[in-house]
Amino acid sequence: MKDFEKTYTIQGSSEEHTIKVTVHDGKLNIRCDCEAGIHKRLCKHIIQLATSDEELQPFLVDANLDKAFDNIFYAKKEIERLQGESRRLRIKIEKAIF
Ligand SMILES: [Zn+2]
Repeated sequence: MKDFEKTYTIQGSSEEHTIKVTVHDGKLNIRCDCEAGIHKRLCKHIIQLATSDEELQPFLVDANLDKAFDNIFYAKKEIERLQGESRRLRIKIEKAIF
């Protein structure tokens, strides 16, 4: 894997975040400047970037992380959908029984 370095700007829900991607000596490093990112937690900005930017795909494949990113993206979408469904059903039931 050849060396790579690029800085991306991602629009978050309230502010912009900067994500720096580097590949050095075959080691992929991704850092986001958000609260989660500075504590080395995988944030939604990195997931968003990794699952939408074609240029990064070869590095994710080399790091064997492409499927993990796709799956976590899908899982998070499913959680959001199920939370919405749960909310709608709870309101329906509450209206009926209280
Ligand atoms: Zn972030």
